[in-house]
Amino acid sequence: MKRILVTGGAGFIGSHLCEKLIREGNKVTCLDNFLTGRKENIHHLIENKHFEMVEHDVMHPYFFIDPVDEIYHLACPASPIHYQRDPIKTMKISVLGSYNVLGIAKKHGAKILLASTSEIYGDPLVHPQPEQYWGNVNTIGPRSCYDEGKRCAETLFMDYHRQENVRIKIVRIFNTYGPGMLPDDGRVISNFILQALQHQDITIYGDGSQTRSFQYIDDLIEGLLKMMHTDERFTGPVNIGNPREFTIKELAERIVVLSGSSSKLVYKPLPVDDPKQRQPDITLAHEMLDWKPKISLDEGLTRMIGFFRGKLQHNPIEAKVDISC
Ligand code: NAD
Ligand code: UDP
Repeated sequence: MKRILVTGGAGFIGSHLCEKLIREGNKVTCLDNFLTGRKENIHHLIENKHFEMVEHDVMHPYFFIDPVDEIYHLACPASPIHYQRDPIKTMKISVLGSYNVLGIAKKHGAKILLASTSEIYGDPLVHPQPEQYWGNVNTIGPRSCYDEGKRCAETLFMDYHRQENVRIKIVRIFNTYGPGMLPDDGRVISNFILQALQHQDITIYGDGSQTRSFQYIDDLIEGLLKMMHTDERFTGPVNIGNPREFTIKELAERIVVLSGSSSKLVYKPLPVDDPKQRQPDITLAHEMLDWKPKISLDEGLTRMIGFFRGKLQHNPIEAKVDISC
């Protein structure tokens, strides 16, 4: 039985990962300070004797006594509203958090995977984005704390690999959605579904021609596990995302149809540095991981609509529309 540490394990992606790892017969330690994660995400795991919860901030060192075999490093706020709320902290979490967790990997000889992001490509000038593309990131804009924080985390991972022989894996995650997302974290799929189900105006930022490629959480989790189990010489980075690209306006229209909503589309200012296009080139993931996403946008959205419908049964929930940045 492997002992696996998941930082950020109480968050959206982390809680799905903890659940899957336990189902596969591992002992899982979730390390989280609940900055954006929720106890309810891991509530169903707490009684499991193979699950352990450590409340701790990755910005500070943590010393494990028992051996650790693998680490998935996810701890970091991920939605633009959350990571821009305290940008200095976001940068510290990315950099100091990675530094501390790499220290645990080094001490225990553990394999460690970084949840990096498509944001490291910034507002990309190459389309779709292959891993060899170095990106187009504004170093001084409101998104930089996250984009540059993750770029620095990738650098630290590679330097620990080259200098200290730490076994690393870097995954660049593209927009992911699914049950367990905070309904009010301002991300586009949660906002649009909440608005559609409550027949409120759907808030499109800009003219809605910017594109994103959305993957369902189950596809991502499969990709993360496959990456962890690749040959040790393969460090990545590797893109994990669904290459099917949609404009934000198309997304809004699809959600209106699938939820049977009477909502109207309304247009709000585009946030600063909002990337115009984003689509993963997943050739490398296909070759090295034998991975491809399986869940279509319609199927994933239908599941998400069901999830949010359940949440709205008792109380209305306001979508978080934040165009202040
Ligand atoms: P999330 O906000 O739901 O989860 C992040 C988790 O990290 C939360 O449980 C939070 O409490 C925890 N955390 C934050 N700061 C911490 C700290 N200082 N110490 C300990 N725990 C801390 O976000 P998510 O969508 O699940 O994202 C998880 C990871 O995946 C993040 O690293 C994010 O950058 C990356 N990612 C996500 C997406 C996406 O579309 N969801 C895309 C690209 C990359
Ligand atoms: N967006 C939108 N309306 C909303 C929330 C987001 O039009 O209510 C847009 C946002 O400007 C961006 C896209 O949807 O172009 C994806 O935003 P999200 O915050 O989900 O992810 P990211 O920008 O990090 O890809």
